Amino acid sequence: MRRSRWRMPGDRKPQRPRPLPRRPRPGRFHDQIMTPLAPSRPGETSLEALRPTSPRAALVRAEARCLAAGERWTEPRRRTFELLVEAGRPVKAYDLVACYGPGRRPTKPPTVYRALDFLIDLGLVHKVETDNAFIACPRPDAARHSANFLICEVCGRADELDLGMEESLEAIAARLAFRLDRVVIEARGVCAACRFKAGRRLVNDQGL
Ligand SMILES: [Zn+2]
Ligand SMILES: [Zn+2]
Repeated sequence: MRRSRWRMPGDRKPQRPRPLPRRPRPGRFHDQIMTPLAPSRPGETSLEALRPTSPRAALVRAEARCLAAGERWTEPRRRTFELLVEAGRPVKAYDLVACYGPGRRPTKPPTVYRALDFLIDLGLVHKVETDNAFIACPRPDAARHSANFLICEVCGRADELDLGMEESLEAIAARLAFRLDRVVIEARGVCAACRFKAGRRLVNDQGL
């Protein structure tokens, strides 16, 4: 049936098609993608990446946590943690071995491997499974916890997230009589800074 082009009194005015959302200008793009994934209210899980503290503060807090656990803060443990904090991103064990000593001289692999085992056990360091690498926890004084990561495929940074899923997973596992040993949630993609850089390159290439 053909639609009449005459409108009757009381008919609603025909709506114009909505324009497609415009691509944000480069200057505003960064602000937009840096918006936290979800605003957090008290008691609500935040999906914002956990921000690391300064390297010096991280070392002080890590030592305090180690001593509080009745363990010794030995030089290999301190140095391995320091290298990871300085890197601020996942580092392979053999790279830690290679630049361990003064003047970035290598050490014996067991020195680093034993220190890593200890630091992981205490929750000061996490293993990034999909990179087979290690990263310092941005919360050195937090209780032992599973770490979830957003990992950038371009620059290699890994942001630890607090998804707050452990309790529900533990409850599900308990209901199924499943022994939960560890939880690995690692999402891979492109970080905000790399997306911004790529967007700016595109704009420059197109001469906009
Ligand atoms: Zn952590
Ligand atoms: Zn990146």
